[in-house]
Amino acid sequence: MTSVTIMEVSPRDGLQNEDALVSTEDKLKLIDRALVAGCKRIEVTSFVNPKVVPQMADAEAVCAGLPQRGDVRYTGLVLNQRGYDRLRATERLNEAGLVIAASDTFGERNQGMDIDAGLAMAKDILRQGRDSAFPVQVTIAVAFGCPFEGDVPLERLVHMVTELVVEEPVEIALADTIGVGVPQQVEETFTALKDIVGDIPLRAHFHDTRNTGIGNAYAAVKAGVQTLDASIGGIGGCPFAPNATGNIATEDLVYMLNRSGIEHGVGLENLIDSAQWLEGVLDKSIPSSLLRAGDFLPKP
Ligand code: ZN
Repeated sequence: MTSVTIMEVSPRDGLQNEDALVSTEDKLKLIDRALVAGCKRIEVTSFVNPKVVPQMADAEAVCAGLPQRGDVRYTGLVLNQRGYDRLRATERLNEAGLVIAASDTFGERNQGMDIDAGLAMAKDILRQGRDSAFPVQVTIAVAFGCPFEGDVPLERLVHMVTELVVEEPVEIALADTIGVGVPQQVEETFTALKDIVGDIPLRAHFHDTRNTGIGNAYAAVKAGVQTLDASIGGIGGCPFAPNATGNIATEDLVYMLNRSGIEHGVGLENLIDSAQWLEGVLDKSIPSSLLRAGDFLPKP
């Protein structure tokens, strides 16, 4: 049977676009709910400039409050050396997740680095990680389309992944940051990259902006992707994609996986309950489909 790992990203990607500041205590409750649901990978925060992303200003406090669990891989997102140094200083996370962009314009606006500068930064930090035996993975943002430059040619992704593989990241991910990809594109792209990455596992990150997120997740699994990012309640967004809905909802993803016979180890009822709780914390309606529709239990 096929199986995938789910990386819960609600504490980082989910919350980063919320205007109302969520307390550190509630962030830790959210992480605890993900743990109770069975998540074994959680992106807990990002180490970015608090003036740019005030919601993540408590990164160190969140890390200090994490339950220490030998069976869970906690990740923090970083965009540069400064972020990486902050993450390492916490001594509470199991890996660093670097992000670089697949377009010069997005990279410059998001982190002041064009593609070449992003690759150079990533390779440098990957070397540092290897030298100190600390796992570092890399996500390529806007891999399926850029809000400023449009299409991202497959040859560009091939070039970027070929460059990254040299420094042996523990994982390479493609992110559909603004939710423009479609399943056929996802399948073709990951299939093309599989030969280049060899034994390095692949991860996929989808936003449901145009209702293609769950279909894209299915296509990614079919193309051999081992880990899928998702966010409880489907919260999340991108500062450069106004009106975009969030990450694919973890409970919507789990529903699809359950009914497709794909194992993942996460409990649907716990997730729906947490989506409901999160709606209360954020005091607004959230995109989750399963929260509205409920599970479907076919009678024998
Ligand atoms: Zn995202």
